[in-house]
Amino acid sequence: MKIIVLGAGPCGLGAAYHLDKLGHNSWQLFERNSNVGGLSASFIDDKDFTWDIGGHVLFSHYTYFDKAVAEALGDAYYEHQRESWIRILQTWVPYPFQNNVRHLPTEALQECVEGLRKLQGDPSQTTNFREWMDTIFGSGIVKFFMEPYNRKVWGVVLETMSKEWIAERVSVVDLGRIERNITEQRDDLSWGPNNTFKFPKQGGTGAIYEGIARPLGDRIHLNHEMVSIDPDAKRVSFANGRVEPYDVLINTPPLDLLVAACCALPETVRAAAENLVHNSGLIVGLGIEERRDDSKCWMYFPESNSPFYRVTNFHNYSPFNVPGGDTRRYSSLMCETTYSSYKSVDKADIVDRTVQGLHASGMIDGPQIQRIVSRYLIDIPYSYPVPTLGRDGALSMIQPWLESRDIYSRGRFGAWKYEVGNMDHSFMQGVEVVERLFAGGNEPTLNGRV
Ligand SMILES: Cc1cc2nc3c(=O)[nH]c(=O)nc-3n(C[C@H](O)[C@H](O)[C@H](O)COP(=O)(O)OP(=O)(O)OC[C@H]3O[C@@H](n4cnc5c(N)ncnc54)[C@H](O)[C@@H]3O)c2cc1C
Repeated sequence: MKIIVLGAGPCGLGAAYHLDKLGHNSWQLFERNSNVGGLSASFIDDKDFTWDIGGHVLFSHYTYFDKAVAEALGDAYYEHQRESWIRILQTWVPYPFQNNVRHLPTEALQECVEGLRKLQGDPSQTTNFREWMDTIFGSGIVKFFMEPYNRKVWGVVLETMSKEWIAERVSVVDLGRIERNITEQRDDLSWGPNNTFKFPKQGGTGAIYEGIARPLGDRIHLNHEMVSIDPDAKRVSFANGRVEPYDVLINTPPLDLLVAACCALPETVRAAAENLVHNSGLIVGLGIEERRDDSKCWMYFPESNSPFYRVTNFHNYSPFNVPGGDTRRYSSLMCETTYSSYKSVDKADIVDRTVQGLHASGMIDGPQIQRIVSRYLIDIPYSYPVPTLGRDGALSMIQPWLESRDIYSRGRFGAWKYEVGNMDHSFMQGVEVVERLFAGGNEPTLNGRV
C-alpha cells in the first residue's frame, strides 16, 4: 500500500510518525512550505525574537502524543501553570470569567448574578450557540463577556454556529459555586483541560514538530504544493511538476481546498464544500526592549477598544523567545486578531492598531511604545474551522465520497472539526487514521470520543 501524506503539520506528522513506528516503508509526505509544523510552526525574526502562529500551549489527552513529544523534546521544555485573565471594564478578571465575576465593578457584577438567577429555558432545546449562551450564562455574562468575546474571536454571526462542539471548550456555570466565590472572595481558577502546560525551551512550539520530523528524514518532501488530485487515476500533482501515484491519500490541508483540487467530483460534493466556513487571523508580535513583570500567560480582550481577542506574554513561556534569552532586557507580546468575510480588518494598519489597542487597554504605556524594537506580522488565511449549523451536513456529504476513493482528510482543517482541532487531537487524527488502515481501528478522536 503506497501512502501519500499531504501536509507536515501535527496531523500529517502524526500519520508519518505512526507509519514509521509500524515499520511501514511505502509512504512519503509532501509539504507546501519550506518548514514543518503547519499552524504549530515557529519563526525567528530578524531581531532574534521567536514567534508562534498565535499563542500555542501544549496540553494533551493522549499518552501516545506525550511519548512523541517526549522523544522530540527530551527534557528541553518548561512546565507552566496557566494564568489567564480577561481585561474588561478597566479591571482584570481571572479566567474562567463566569466563576470570577466578583472582580467586576459592583453594577456589572450585580447584572451578571441577576442574569444567572433569572435563567430561563432549557439549553438542550436551543438551536444555536447564541441561544445556548443565553440559557446557560444569563443576560449579564452574555452582555459583558460571552457575546462580545465570541463575536471577536469567531468573526461570524453567532446564530449561525452550532452548540454541539462546546463540551470541554467552554466552562459552564454553577450558580452556587459563583455565589460562594463572591461571598468568600475566592478566585476559582482551576477549570479546564489546560491548567498546566508545557513549552519548549528553544525554538517555540515549532520545536516539537521539528523534533518529530527529524528522524523521519528524507521521506518528508518540503516545497511541494499539491495543486490537483485525480481520484480515479489516484494521482496527485504538485506545483513543481512532480506527479505521484498513490493507493491511499491522507490529506491535512483545508478540506475545501482539497475538494477544489479534485477533478471529476460530483456536484453535490462540490456544493457541500461551500458550506464549510472558516475565519482567518493576523498575529502581531511586538518585541519590546524592556523587562515586563507580569506573570499572566495569556489574556482575553472582549471589548472594542482593541482589535485583538487575545494577547500572550510570550517571554513568560521561555526566556529564549527573546534575544539572547535576556528577559531582564526584553519582553514580547503576541496579539491575535480575527478577520473573515463577515469581519473585515485592514491588514495595512493592523500593527499600528494593535499597538493602540494595547495602549487603550492599559497593557503598555507611551514610553513602552517607544521601546518596541520588533514588529512581526503573520497572516493566517485559515485560523479556526467554524462549527456552523451546516457543517456536519456538509461533512457527511464530502467525507464518505472521498473515503470511497481512498482519500482520508484529517486534522484541524482537513476534518474541519474545531472541537478536535488542537495539536494533540490533530496529531492523533493522523495516528488513528493510519491505525484504521492497518488494524481497522475506529478513529475515536475524529468521532468525538476523546
Ligand atoms: C491562533 C491559533 C492558536 C492555537 N493555539 C493552540 C493551542 O494553544 N494549543 C493547541 O493544542 N492547538 C492550538 N492551535 C491549533 C493548532 O495550531 C492545530 O491543532 C494544528 O496545527 C493543526 O495541525 P494540522 O496538521 O491538522 O494542520 P496544519 O497545522 O494547518 O497543517 C497543515 C499543513 O498542510 C500544509 N499544506 C497546506 N496546503 C498544502 C498543499 N496544497 N500542498 C501541500 N501542503 C499543504 C500546510 O503548509 C501545513 O503545514 C491554535 C491554532 C491557531 C490558529
